[in-house]
Amino acid sequence: MAEDLPVPPLLTGNLAFFFDLDGTLAEIKPHPDQVSIPPEVRAMLKRLSELNDGALALISGRSMKELDNLSLPFRFPLAGVHGAERRDISENTHLVTLPAELVATLQRDLEREMALMPGTELESKGMAFALHYRQAPEFETRILELARTYVRHNTLLALQPGKCVVEIKPKGISKGAAIAAFMDEAPFAGRQPVFVGDDLTDEAGFEVVNQRGGVTIKVGKGDTIAQWRLQSVREVHLWLEKLTLQQEQEKKHITERREGYESLSRSI
Ligand SMILES: [Mg+2]
Repeated sequence: MAEDLPVPPLLTGNLAFFFDLDGTLAEIKPHPDQVSIPPEVRAMLKRLSELNDGALALISGRSMKELDNLSLPFRFPLAGVHGAERRDISENTHLVTLPAELVATLQRDLEREMALMPGTELESKGMAFALHYRQAPEFETRILELARTYVRHNTLLALQPGKCVVEIKPKGISKGAAIAAFMDEAPFAGRQPVFVGDDLTDEAGFEVVNQRGGVTIKVGKGDTIAQWRLQSVREVHLWLEKLTLQQEQEKKHITERREGYESLSRSI
């Protein structure tokens, strides 16, 4: 349907950037542990963040600990586990949790069930569980049904499907809610939001950013409510490079103009 979305423009003005990580900034790999953001892209993110007064955050299904490791040596504002964890620019952490007893039951039951499906993998994130089946796609239907069973019987839980993964997460959290929370705070508030993402979980983020008159960019194929499209992670990197360069030049012009005025006023 939306396959022919245009390539996003190079943006100007006061912007607030939000990036998904897997499949957006980093290529998807057979196992999540093999994923990395190229060092030059990490440096570019840092530069883009500086050019926009720190208004750049990573919004991911991964835990914040993993996000910090993947963005070394830099440290950005983060939303992890689809927004269940959030760290703002002042280093305050905001957490959504589930009752410990429920987490323990889920852990035990999911481990037992998934042991019967070789090649599937359970990832525990504290307040959420990712049921991976990338290595065993033949279990897709069984895994989805398993996840649905728990969500159907517990009003505290919600389902989050993704690429070869389905997650059980606390109800009410979403990447959209995380972006909205950032947009209420400095240095994001008052800026035009930009969100780049590739997966179903990013659609909630696109919705919030579209509502706020921002720029939404879908990476890769698939239906989306985003306004623009980049075809691959490589295209995201190239777009980022051009964008950072343009913002740097813009800033240089402004500084030169200001210095010009200052030397003019000194000479009068
Ligand atoms: Mg992704």
